[in-house]
Amino acid sequence: MEFMFGIPSFVQFGPGVAKKAGEVAQGLGARKVLFVYDKGVKSAGLADEVLKALHDSNLEVLEFDGVQPNPTDTLVENAAAMAREFQPDAIVALGGGSSIDCAKAINILQTNPSPINQYDGLNTVPNPTRPLIAIPTTAGTASEVTAFSIVTDTTRQKKMVIGGQFVGATMALVDPQMTFGMPSSITASTGMDALTHAIEAYLSKGAMVPTDVCALRAIELIYHNLPTATRNGQDLEARTNMLLGSMMAGFAFNCAVLGLVHSIAHPLSVHCGLPHGVANAVVLPYVMEYNAPAALDRMKDIALAMGQPVSDMAPVEAAKLAIAAVKALSRELQIPSLEELGVPRNIFDRLAEDALLEISTIFNPREPSKQDVIDILVKAY
Ligand SMILES: [Zn+2]
Repeated sequence: MEFMFGIPSFVQFGPGVAKKAGEVAQGLGARKVLFVYDKGVKSAGLADEVLKALHDSNLEVLEFDGVQPNPTDTLVENAAAMAREFQPDAIVALGGGSSIDCAKAINILQTNPSPINQYDGLNTVPNPTRPLIAIPTTAGTASEVTAFSIVTDTTRQKKMVIGGQFVGATMALVDPQMTFGMPSSITASTGMDALTHAIEAYLSKGAMVPTDVCALRAIELIYHNLPTATRNGQDLEARTNMLLGSMMAGFAFNCAVLGLVHSIAHPLSVHCGLPHGVANAVVLPYVMEYNAPAALDRMKDIALAMGQPVSDMAPVEAAKLAIAAVKALSRELQIPSLEELGVPRNIFDRLAEDALLEISTIFNPREPSKQDVIDILVKAY
């Protein structure tokens, strides 16, 4: 056996840890901090809480509140230019994956030359970056603990996966109270993203013992807590378990990487504007159906993690129950179909071509053809 496992970030987990942002930044040697977030967390009152913590530690703060969903290279370049004038010695990011990914990319451009597009790929960032503190407000992307930043290349019309050394956050402050204000539709879609991470990491060709352990525990936590967290956003136990699950899914896919669900979801977001979590959720059960023949034993493990009564079942039957459970969860969470999302059928060809070029496709347990991807999209319609 041989593998390499690690994550870039230290983690402080628990209710209230976000209030430590100031002292943590100070402990990392910061005096001037760039604070990155979006307008949604501002209106939810979360940005003010963190800002107060930063001011209480006597830090000089520049705020950047212009993060957009699926952040683009243009947005990153503009924010990075503004930051370079301020010369922060640390960055604090508050929000979902878009804010944290955006902050990672801005951080890269503080110590590495523009444009950001030249760092598409793995281990392409040459110079060390400054301390980055990530505070997630969704239980989904796990960007707070992964070494990836996803930025849309507006010229090539693709999502870049910038990953590897110097990309990840230094410290993740993972605070369930920061997810209380999340609307139920966002809880549902980001939670399905987290479930997709865990399932894809477990089925990945890059899976290894430590990622398997994290992925299975993440599947168990997410499957059993996502409906409650969606129904009642103030349920501390469900919110805690969802953040724990999404974080552990992040531990898993940071090294095991992902699969065909993400390969299809990225072009769906780029060409049709679908939120990342929705794009994953809508194709997840159909990619599981496609992958099942190549991973029957692992599909049974997934069914077991979801508490399905499959102990005495043949793997082929257990796999069917795993897929049925994911479909039922999607229905319960009111995840729409591709048709309901307004995705036109005449774009399937382009989506399939782009999906085959995604880095995650290499790690999928089955090697798909273009027609395979089109068949999956037809099923998800
Ligand atoms: Zn994802």
